Amino acid sequence: MHLSKCSHSFSELVRKIRALSITSPEDAEAQFPKFPNFARHVAKLFREDRLFDILPRLEVQLQIVGKFSLPVRPALDPYISTQIGIFSKHFDDYEIGRFLDYPECCMRSFAENIRYSIDENHIQELRVSGMKAFATTAGFIPCSIFCNEAQNTGLLSFIEPHEMVVLRNLEKEMSLRLPHFHPEYQEHYFEVRSL
Ligand SMILES: [Zn+2]
Repeated sequence: MHLSKCSHSFSELVRKIRALSITSPEDAEAQFPKFPNFARHVAKLFREDRLFDILPRLEVQLQIVGKFSLPVRPALDPYISTQIGIFSKHFDDYEIGRFLDYPECCMRSFAENIRYSIDENHIQELRVSGMKAFATTAGFIPCSIFCNEAQNTGLLSFIEPHEMVVLRNLEKEMSLRLPHFHPEYQEHYFEVRSL
């Protein structure tokens, strides 16, 4: 169950990027009405041939993700995220969140309650959950660690201690096969908290 949910969720992201690589900026806007400005921007970069090295990296990441049985979806390769403008301040948080399939409830909590990281409330929820640990996709902040939608999208999961090893192994393989020059994001594809 883990495998299909997270691979599916990651493949969905890959599908969107591939679609943006072959469409005009105008059509991109119409094709992705939930994030029109961002879609137009990415399609334009592809058209100007400024993202020529993105698709091969995406293929490698997709291949690596398929090898692991993951409890949550890994973050997109930080090099790709940077190149397509995910960290850029030019786009609304909601557009980026919708591109990344973040649930509306979690985006609201992120934007309106200014929860920019896993905080004490999440840890308090973990204490009452009876579970020992949880993992999220790096960069994603759930409204609650009990958020059903986030769990169903493969962005959040309670995990057993032994599953942390799987997450670290994937991060190691990513950093070996997809090196990049963003040291702050090196080997950082998941966020894990344990008691
Ligand atoms: Zn939520």
